[in-house]
Amino acid sequence: KRTITRLPEWLKTPIPTAGKNANFAKIKADLRGLNLHTVCEEARCPNIGECWGGSNKAAATATIMLMGDTCTRGCRFCSVKTSRAPPPLDPHEPEHTAEALARWGLGYVVLTSVDRDDLADGGARHFAETIRKIKQKKPTLLVEALTGDFAGDLDMVRIVAESGLDVYAHNVETVENLTPYVRDRKATFRQSLAVLEHVKKVRGQEGIITKTSIMLGLGETEDEIWEALRELRKVDVDVVTFGQYMRPTKRHLKVEKYVTPDEFELWRQRALDLGFLYCASGPLVRSSYKAGEAFIENVLR
Ligand code: SF4
Ligand code: SF4
Repeated sequence: KRTITRLPEWLKTPIPTAGKNANFAKIKADLRGLNLHTVCEEARCPNIGECWGGSNKAAATATIMLMGDTCTRGCRFCSVKTSRAPPPLDPHEPEHTAEALARWGLGYVVLTSVDRDDLADGGARHFAETIRKIKQKKPTLLVEALTGDFAGDLDMVRIVAESGLDVYAHNVETVENLTPYVRDRKATFRQSLAVLEHVKKVRGQEGIITKTSIMLGLGETEDEIWEALRELRKVDVDVVTFGQYMRPTKRHLKVEKYVTPDEFELWRQRALDLGFLYCASGPLVRSSYKAGEAFIENVLR
């Protein structure tokens, strides 16, 4: 028997196009020839019109993937391909990425990567070098790094945290109880908290913004979400985002619940009540959703 998965109305989105959005059209045109791989385009993210466009060009945000497309882990919600021995790093990537970003018209860039447990430093130096080079070439470009947990090696977290970035993001992805079922077995909720805590230790309370993201719809209870939020506040995480878990293929975890837009709004309010600086929360929200706009409105104001 065939099962037909019906998506709720709020998850059916039109394919983003340039339309009349001048910023989007310009940023898309300028990308040509820069040889940058954006997660926004490659994952066909539905938010691209809002992130690349929007009313304020200085807030234009894109996400770039570093260190290849093959991950050493296998989380049960993620469709990235995996291998124990991915191809070696491109030593020119930091320089090329920085050059291209300096020429592109973004205000805010999110640098992310697969996990590279095969490398002695987990790729921390590669990340840090890319950030330093970006800041040398275009100091006004706001930089967020969304890293893995470096297998709990806090010295590697320090290397990235001290590289000159503005926002350090690391995703807990789900509540503590579901972590062993959702994330790769090398990841734990406590290890992720330790990463986020260490960033603040290195850079000071006010010196950097820390950020994390939680997917809803994996079977978590309300109490478990509350608990996760409280634990994150205990280590002074500044920003949290909530989005709907979407199953990439039938081999991945199934969606337990489609959370309504109203429930997402409720979690946004609750997060703010708990003291988070800001919170993006909605069915299509990804951790980098309009990150530039949120940073400019809430941190630089
Ligand atoms: Fe790109 Fe992230 Fe925005 Fe999607 S949400 S368009 S991946 S910056
Ligand atoms: Fe996907 Fe990241 Fe997990 Fe790798 S570590 S499988 S890229 S979510």
